[in-house]
Amino acid sequence: MKKISFILLFSISLVGIFLILHQAYLTDKENNTSLIFAKMPPNLSSQISPNEIFVSPAVPILMYHHVQDYPYGKDLSSVSIFVSPATFEAQLNWLASNDFQTVDLSYFKNPTRLSGKPIILTFDDGYQDAYDQVFPMLKKYGFRATFYPIVNNIDKAGFLTSDEIMEMQNNSMTFGSHSLSHPNLTEISEQQAQQEIYASKKILEQITGKEVSDFCYPGGKLDQTAINIVANSGYSTATTTSNKINLGKTDLLQLNRLDIENETRFENLPALKNL
Ligand SMILES: [Zn+2]
Repeated sequence: MKKISFILLFSISLVGIFLILHQAYLTDKENNTSLIFAKMPPNLSSQISPNEIFVSPAVPILMYHHVQDYPYGKDLSSVSIFVSPATFEAQLNWLASNDFQTVDLSYFKNPTRLSGKPIILTFDDGYQDAYDQVFPMLKKYGFRATFYPIVNNIDKAGFLTSDEIMEMQNNSMTFGSHSLSHPNLTEISEQQAQQEIYASKKILEQITGKEVSDFCYPGGKLDQTAINIVANSGYSTATTTSNKINLGKTDLLQLNRLDIENETRFENLPALKNL
């Protein structure tokens, strides 16, 4: 009898130990697979500005302008900012079949657990093709994106209308400011820069009825004054044209973006295919 009790007790203990170890394994596994947006590692925290975070794994931001066939007869000076609808669809298809999941820029501050690899799609200048070409294609793939209209051009010919912006926003699209008139912020007065950065936020907020948290430097031109105005205007993120992914020590007000052109093949792009 004693022997049976001992065996029973021993078996129960074994099961108990197994359960404890298994739980520890699961917890560990969960931590490993979660997306790590650590606050800064302690040794770096003293060297960073308030806008810097530590990003791992990498989060690529793609930069598009026009999605339409290059206009026939147009000189080739702006060919680099046109991606054809066919190429665009092939690129979205590649992202979908390679486990990418589109997120907004707010992801940097509030990362959520994803089933796929995070990626952010951005479209500059607010051209009409953002509604005609990009929006239907994104909906088809269940993707979201951030659009940066030039605020003074909204409702002008060739650019997004306020109604289109509202419709897109109601379908998971996000809008950030690309200034009022797309100046080189490093070549205008501080007062003018203030107007371009702050007033454009307020006007876009009136159009969208929502807080605007994302800014995009026109032409990728910025200096410390511009960055300070962006920070003081209440933006959480700002994107540049620096052609890199965001990994490791990352400044949220100087986010890098990969320049996507019609010739860009994602399957050949090291920044994407190795993620
Ligand atoms: Zn632009």
